Amino acid sequence: MKSSPDDLAIFGGKPLFLQVLHVGRPNVGDQVKLMKRMSDVLKSRWFTNNGSQVQEFERRVAETVGVRHCVAMCNGTTALEIAIRAAGLTGEVIVPSFTFVATAHALQWQGIMPVFCDIDETFCLDPNRIEELITPRTTGIIGVHLWGHTCNVEALAAICGRFNLVLLFDAAHAFGCSRNGVMVGRFGRAEVFSFHATKFLNTFEGGAVVTDDSAFANCCRAMRNFGFSGEDQVSALGINGKMNEFEAVMGLTSLEHMEEIVVANRNNYLAYRKELRDIPGLILMDYEENERNNFQYIVIEIAEKAGVSRDLLHALLQAEGILARRYFHPGCHRMEPYRSLYPRAAHFLPQTERACARMLCLPTGTGVGAEQIRTICALLSFVVRNDVDIRARWKGLSVSGSSSGSME
Ligand SMILES: *Cc1c(COP(=O)(O)O)cnc(C)c1O
Repeated sequence: MKSSPDDLAIFGGKPLFLQVLHVGRPNVGDQVKLMKRMSDVLKSRWFTNNGSQVQEFERRVAETVGVRHCVAMCNGTTALEIAIRAAGLTGEVIVPSFTFVATAHALQWQGIMPVFCDIDETFCLDPNRIEELITPRTTGIIGVHLWGHTCNVEALAAICGRFNLVLLFDAAHAFGCSRNGVMVGRFGRAEVFSFHATKFLNTFEGGAVVTDDSAFANCCRAMRNFGFSGEDQVSALGINGKMNEFEAVMGLTSLEHMEEIVVANRNNYLAYRKELRDIPGLILMDYEENERNNFQYIVIEIAEKAGVSRDLLHALLQAEGILARRYFHPGCHRMEPYRSLYPRAAHFLPQTERACARMLCLPTGTGVGAEQIRTICALLSFVVRNDVDIRARWKGLSVSGSSSGSME
């Protein structure tokens, strides 16, 4: 471990990890079984177009969630776009800005205006801030179960009922999570999962729309396949949103390892919780003990007491080979095209602005273990104990940097 701030890699010391640690390294599961399934797909000569493996994957996902229909897609963003179109959304739709940019893009890409609403202490949409954003053009709300924390589903449903709006959820982070014992996937008109390589359940690339509404599911199925309703019959506008067989077998293999992955993630969470407990100013995001969680994200808030800013801490960790990520920085409202479209949005999103400036995701997953977590936390503790020195040195670096004309 470091004995003086001079030893920090950002100031020229030796990095703690030569093999860098990532946030969201994919889980592989049983590789032998996976390769056998891949080779079976090759032998079958049926690679895509709603093959048997995709159908099996859809059945297993629907069963796990407890929902009637799962429509698997090529990725979560396309699944969102199709759900939005199948729900008939137009005009304006209320979404959080504190999310991955795909939530907003899925609307804007179809000429629908995302209207950004602030979040509350759960990092999800604040139901108290929604009504002021509703206009005659508003047709729906898309909640995001951020980091597996579920939205206030009941309050959002009540608002949608009162104003006759469609309620959808971006559940990209929340496969395997529950709210009041009900699995995510069962809320709203439909919910959308992402099975991207970095997500809890992975199909390399992939996603799905899940719903209990048969007509809605059929509409999504047709849209996923160019609008085909028979061999030579196209009955509506569609796109190519299909999942292929190789992705489906990766998904089936991942599903078989779900419980092990939860255990590994949970152990990492408990290890972080123990090690971070006594470090002032670093606040670990909790998981509700009474719910099912996937524990996929280790998220800390860097409060004033830490003595270093989130951005300084981020730079410091990167230099040590700890590739922490500033999710979700800087917020959709500060990314294009939204920044130009809504130049004043930040005024109306104080909690979003705060979260964008303070939250940091730390490495976890099956590739990270207790030993590495102890090292990461020892470094964090060292940084917070030496905050004054580190800030002074960082400022010195910044000043000499700017006088030589380089950035920051
Ligand atoms: C990953 C993610 C998406 C997009 O999913 P892809 O499968 O990568 O297209 C959408 N919303 C959120 C919140 C995400 O994290």
